Amino acid sequence: MNSRDLLAALVGFDTTSRESNLHLIEFVRDYLAGFDVPCELMFNASRSKANLFATLGPADLPGIVLSGHTDVVPVDGQPWTVAPFELSEHDGKLFGRGTADMKGYIACVLAAVPGLLAAPLNKPVHIALSYDEEVGCLGVRSLLAELDQRPVKPLLCIIGEPTELKPVLGHKGKLAMRCDVHGAACHSAYAPQGVNAIEYAAELIGELGRIGSTLRAPELHDARFDPPFTTVQTGMISGGKALNIVPADCRFDFEVRALPAHDPLDIAQQLQDYANARVLPRMQAVSADADIRFTELSAYPGLATDAKGQAAQLIAQFCGSDAFTTVAFGTEGGLFDAIGIPTVVCGPGSMDQGHKPDEFVSVAQLEACDAMLQRITRTLQD
Ligand SMILES: [Zn+2]
Repeated sequence: MNSRDLLAALVGFDTTSRESNLHLIEFVRDYLAGFDVPCELMFNASRSKANLFATLGPADLPGIVLSGHTDVVPVDGQPWTVAPFELSEHDGKLFGRGTADMKGYIACVLAAVPGLLAAPLNKPVHIALSYDEEVGCLGVRSLLAELDQRPVKPLLCIIGEPTELKPVLGHKGKLAMRCDVHGAACHSAYAPQGVNAIEYAAELIGELGRIGSTLRAPELHDARFDPPFTTVQTGMISGGKALNIVPADCRFDFEVRALPAHDPLDIAQQLQDYANARVLPRMQAVSADADIRFTELSAYPGLATDAKGQAAQLIAQFCGSDAFTTVAFGTEGGLFDAIGIPTVVCGPGSMDQGHKPDEFVSVAQLEACDAMLQRITRTLQD
């Protein structure tokens, strides 16, 4: 099967993150079994989803990981003009959910398997497919926990998120958090007897803004990223029952998008320290059970691979460009990097089409990715 036929098969599985990905995983397992390539599946707790890991070539040497997530974002409410889970072609573009993000890359990797097996390889190629990337890079963590136990670390991981096959060495990390402020209700005519959760939440949000402005200091900038500093923003808020009731509860969600040099947890901790030292005592002076609780919703680390290191040199060779760049979106890359696997992002298609109606990857990009994988095959054969 060529990459286009494989892409048609992959797009045909509705692997929206809320659904099981097992039909797709079983298809890949059976495809690999057809070449006598065994694979390991790492299931989630309810066994409704799985990661897949397979090795071609000598497993005891450092090799290259080709990694992709199998889940896609929902099509609900989007004005698609073609069937999202059925590959269709118009004007040199292949349409369907996940074509760009990122089943196109997975299709090319699978299409490269016969060539990799025929090489033969003097270093291994590992195929790593994950679930639940789109909902916080959740699935890949059990796969990485397994890889972390192994004595030999791969030389390079190529995450095939859509970069138009440009070599991407970095992106910011992200932390999403929820803050629940619990005060005390009373009739608004006696407002000082209550603890106004909305007003205290507003103090915390204001403090978050002040923390954000300190992060914009020029000495903290990293020009590789856009914007070149760590950002903080509050994106959701709810609270209150009626204007004449002092609100007992207010909830807001905020996120930190951190330069790889910054730990977003440190930034969230600054807000928690402020809450505990400066806000909560005043609330509890009125009502002993007043409370401020922080909950992590999701997080993934940033990625900043050394442009002078071996991983960067390898990807430059494979994709034919050393014009290293960064992307605004997050990937599983920082998690691979965190267990000592140097990681780059490079895949077919553009994130301009990702997550949108009528998502597509061009035939030319798919073919260019096939060619990149052939270069990898030749390199590992020398
Ligand atoms: Zn993706």
